[in-house]
Amino acid sequence: MTSQIIPVEAFDYVVFGGTGDLAERKLIPALFRRYADGQILAQSRIIGAARGEMDHEEYRSFARNALKTHIKEAELDADKINAFMEMLFYCSIDAKSDKGWPELKSILGDEDRVRAYYLAVGPAIFGDIADRLHSNGLIRERSRLVIEKPIGKDLASAHALNEVVGKHFREDQIFRIDHYLGKETVQNLMALRFANTLFQPVWNASYIDHVQITVAEDLGVEGRGNYYDTSGAIRDMVQNHLLQLLCLVAMEPPASTDANAVRDEKLKVLRSLKPIDAESVDAKTVRGQYKAGAAKGNPVPAYLDEVDDKQSDTETFVAIKAEIETWRWAGVPFYLRTGKRLSSRVSEIIVQFKPVPHNIFGDDAKSIKANRLIIRLQPDEGVKQGITIKDPGPGGMRLREVDLDMSFAENFDVHAPDAYERLLLDVIRGNQTLFMRRDEVEAAWKWIDPLIAGWADTNQKTAKYTAGTWGPTSSIALIERDGRTWHDGEA
Ligand code: NAP
Repeated sequence: MTSQIIPVEAFDYVVFGGTGDLAERKLIPALFRRYADGQILAQSRIIGAARGEMDHEEYRSFARNALKTHIKEAELDADKINAFMEMLFYCSIDAKSDKGWPELKSILGDEDRVRAYYLAVGPAIFGDIADRLHSNGLIRERSRLVIEKPIGKDLASAHALNEVVGKHFREDQIFRIDHYLGKETVQNLMALRFANTLFQPVWNASYIDHVQITVAEDLGVEGRGNYYDTSGAIRDMVQNHLLQLLCLVAMEPPASTDANAVRDEKLKVLRSLKPIDAESVDAKTVRGQYKAGAAKGNPVPAYLDEVDDKQSDTETFVAIKAEIETWRWAGVPFYLRTGKRLSSRVSEIIVQFKPVPHNIFGDDAKSIKANRLIIRLQPDEGVKQGITIKDPGPGGMRLREVDLDMSFAENFDVHAPDAYERLLLDVIRGNQTLFMRRDEVEAAWKWIDPLIAGWADTNQKTAKYTAGTWGPTSSIALIERDGRTWHDGEA
């Protein structure tokens, strides 16, 4: 199955932090892939910008290495790489001084094309860059700004950061990336919900028992321990990725896929989340931190061995029972769970339907399993709907659960593009549907802040869990108290 590739108009992408980890691992490979597929015109330019001194050729070598390291060999076509390199430039620039800004201005020139400024740098210098782009006359009608998490560490700092970038860029020029939203399966969730009549009538508290959202990593903090230590799982994962996924599951049908129509609906969900504060934090959340254990059969160190602060109580795991106070979702818990050094790397959404109201099969069907929809983001992106059928052959009315399985890798002859591939070009297209609006980010913090304050007020400490397991036993109790169990990627 092939789809027609329509190239986006020629653009200039300026990647501040163009020599950093994000640029190397994600941005350069994603742009190359889109170029190789014919979606980027050769007149486009990608300009790496950072303080380090290098010329265009040295930057091209850096980019070649990035492609070699992060793209499968089969995809590395030498002619395409050479042609892609022609589109790359470098500008040595300092966000915090005037160094390099006239050079950037001269590279960009006067042509009226879409200019995207990607801030692949720490948020502390977002304001410096926005100010200097402005004072050097580099922001025009068709200029766009792309920023990434972390967007603040609480509501006040997120608000301040939004003010800083909003001083020079209009909201419709600002693209806040949450790369989870660029994943194929996440977009498929929209298709599933709103392009099929099947689900909409049952997508509510009358038919859905609960929802689970798990984003589990098997890796630890690796070399990023000291950075991670200032953030923790709730800020690093829940405030953005997990809440965004929750919104897509829970939102009302938007009137169209127009960016604001979709984001208005997500915002309503965030604003309907039942507050969790000092009174309820103990019953509704679990914080954990991994201790030494094993991953893939090898011993791995404890979190505290990977950070400088040996007394740190930063959580590397969090589980939350969230509730949405609307007619649609009254009484339907959304169990959220994320952590590092868990048993396996899996991100999935489980929509657990209620059991049939009356069993007509009697003893023959001791275990009619309630229907379950599994939306798997990684690995093996795909969607599975568990349904109950009669076991074929004689022997009475024996029932069993089978999966209607839509595994993308098996069913479509295309590689699922990395989320960044889609998102980077959506910036050029000016399509903000898969990006977070300012009010969404702030509404998410508004829910997270009292929860974190609740932990502090009640002195809730992290429960230690062995690396390579599914987290603290108290997180299992959190859901089992309600007569439910976590779906641990078993099916
Ligand atoms: P990194 O590897 O430390 O790279 C930082 C980049 O910024 C380097 O190119 C650095 O080059 C440049 N830089 C630093 N100070 C500068 C200044 N004053 N003026 C101009 N350039 C400057 O960081 P990273 O991991 O790529 O992350 C960048 C941002 O993206 C962070 O906010 C991070 O939280 C976010 N993020 C990263 C990832 C990821 O996978 N890495 C994922 C999501 C979000 P020079 O030192 O030569 O200036």
